[in-house]
Amino acid sequence: MPDTPFIDRIVLSQIKDSGFTWRGNLSLSRFTRLQHEIHADQPSDDLWVSVDLVAGVSGLFWLTLRVRGELRLTCQRCLEGLIYPLSIDNRVAVLSSERLVELMDESDDYVLVAEIEAPEQTEAATVDLFQVIEDECLLAVPASPKHDDCAAAKTQAGDIEQLKPDNPFAQLSQLKK
Ligand SMILES: [Zn+2]
Repeated sequence: MPDTPFIDRIVLSQIKDSGFTWRGNLSLSRFTRLQHEIHADQPSDDLWVSVDLVAGVSGLFWLTLRVRGELRLTCQRCLEGLIYPLSIDNRVAVLSSERLVELMDESDDYVLVAEIEAPEQTEAATVDLFQVIEDECLLAVPASPKHDDCAAAKTQAGDIEQLKPDNPFAQLSQLKK
């Protein structure tokens, strides 16, 4: 099945009845902000993305977003590459007006989309789909990734053990032997 082109920006009023669905691969090279999190030798270049945007009640839209891929992050202990499986299954409300915020539960994830200048502003509300996807990816990336079994952690822990003797005199007498 050939990929239909991805649409970055969607005018909500245009998809009110039909909704918008897209599945396919997006090149990681497009994700400029996510790139900052990536270790130099990223193996695969694609993220698989699935998007379903449908109209809900009261003029809000629901975006069901799934993202799969592998990111090569940098381990914050040893600074080597670390494969991080990216797996996002989120539902995000897309609100074209601030008054819709009060319809949200505390646990709801939502974005307030920019209204562009138009005679009827809410009609022209546009969601930057790509930006929402990248935001969700950034939220899913751990702030301080570390190998579960990091070689540097082991040597470091060993070092700390040696640097903190319980009794400095006991350590000294050990050295004299
Ligand atoms: Zn490590």
